[in-house]
Amino acid sequence: MNETDLRHLRRCAELAARALSEGDEPFGSVLVGPDGAVLFEDHNHVVATGDHTRHPEFEIARWAAAHLTPRERAAATVYTSGEHCPMCAAAHGWVGLGRIVYAASSEQLGQWLAEMGLGEPPVRPLPVRDIVPGAVVDGPAPELAAEIRALHRRFRGLSG
Ligand SMILES: [Zn+2]
Repeated sequence: MNETDLRHLRRCAELAARALSEGDEPFGSVLVGPDGAVLFEDHNHVVATGDHTRHPEFEIARWAAAHLTPRERAAATVYTSGEHCPMCAAAHGWVGLGRIVYAASSEQLGQWLAEMGLGEPPVRPLPVRDIVPGAVVDGPAPELAAEIRALHRRFRGLSG
């Protein structure tokens, strides 16, 4: 993971903070082309829509399927504040997107939720590579852990 990766991950954290400010779960993701251009970005919309499949990584997969050739998808990188859930990992694998870089791992997120006394989510938080064996995945980014953790605590009404 290099400075460019961290810059895109910081943008994901900003998008996660925006989701939180809109009352939604703090997750944000960015799709970046091979030339470094940001192609698409989104944050979580599960509270706003009442649809718990509205994760930004899933929106990225759908956007990529609609707008990019298979070759372009394979060359694109998905940056995200939290490691893909199994649903989003599967969507990523099905549309043939490239590298994934995440700030916080599913394991970290699980630990943070457990610290907050929250139970298991309805979908098991498996690592991306358990869902997409060929995926190229980098993360977590220790530089962003405290910030991401604080966002998740604030979403649940706790201080950072
Ligand atoms: Zn997801």
